[in-house]
Amino acid sequence: MPPPPSPVTIPPVTKPSPVSRRNFLSAALAGSAATLAGAQMPQSSPDEWAPERTQAALHSATGTSLVLLGTGAGPVEGRPRRMTSHVLVSNGAAYIVDCGLGVTNQLARTGIPFSAVRSIFITHHHPDHNVEYGPFLLLRWVGHNTQAPSAYGPPPLIQMTRDYLRSVDVTIRFWSEDFQYPPLKVDDVHEITGSGHVMKDKNVRVTSVLVQHPPVRPALGYRFDFADRSIAFSGDTVPLEAVARMAQGADVLVHEAIDMAVMDRMERLNHDPVQYKIAMHHMRADHSPIEDVGRIAQQAGVKTLVLSHLAPSIGIPDETWRAAAARHFKGNIIVGHDLMVI
Ligand SMILES: [Zn+2]
Ligand SMILES: [Zn+2]
Repeated sequence: MPPPPSPVTIPPVTKPSPVSRRNFLSAALAGSAATLAGAQMPQSSPDEWAPERTQAALHSATGTSLVLLGTGAGPVEGRPRRMTSHVLVSNGAAYIVDCGLGVTNQLARTGIPFSAVRSIFITHHHPDHNVEYGPFLLLRWVGHNTQAPSAYGPPPLIQMTRDYLRSVDVTIRFWSEDFQYPPLKVDDVHEITGSGHVMKDKNVRVTSVLVQHPPVRPALGYRFDFADRSIAFSGDTVPLEAVARMAQGADVLVHEAIDMAVMDRMERLNHDPVQYKIAMHHMRADHSPIEDVGRIAQQAGVKTLVLSHLAPSIGIPDETWRAAAARHFKGNIIVGHDLMVI
């Protein structure tokens, strides 16, 4: 029998405090991302949970938790919903799924210590899923976490990791000399090219599934089987039987979703006819209409469907998303918001 899961140690919940020059400087000198986030904790928007609520939920959790760090679709900056990233917390360890812009800050706001991050999983090489992979590794190391996490994702992840480290070599050397700890090394990187076994440690077994997201090949979904809970991620894909099979019987399926009719109107308004045609071709060839997401979740027989990577990411009420998914899915439906704990 595996030992009962214990939560990651979450620092006590503190009220957001205004940024003062003094606490900003002391945080910067300490080189701690978590301290910085505490000093600068912004107010929450209607599209996210308040960080205090996230921290409290994690603090009282007894088993495996899923935290939605970013639930917006596409590489669009400045929106209330951040780009895609999620973190799973189990038995004192954290596992990140995708590194869209904002992953570092959002993780800091959850209160999960950066040292708890064991592994990073990238679903595919679009910027809303990988743009902050390298910067997260760098900033985690700056916070005195000298043992890098392992990383998994499609090729050329090994080359990308090397190239990123080379691009920040001078930064790493200056920091390493100044604060006297060893330079950042990221050696445990694995390229995943198909469906099947990805990794196993004492907390979790991870498997992958190939999904359809042309022209990105390979693009992956992942399934995480913990002792107490199974959580599957579709990644970016059209509706796919393979995702339903991968997620079969899981407790939670996190699936991308698009409202095709609303997206069509938005793209028509925002683009010239040629760009509009190209954009809508991408939406139809690469993403999952919300009604079909319900069908996939029903086929998979999951208990809970979590909608994340929402397109468009603003302007559609939760009730509209939920009603469309409920046409075919009879289980529990959660419309994802940033910093939500599930
Ligand atoms: Zn995406
Ligand atoms: Zn994508």
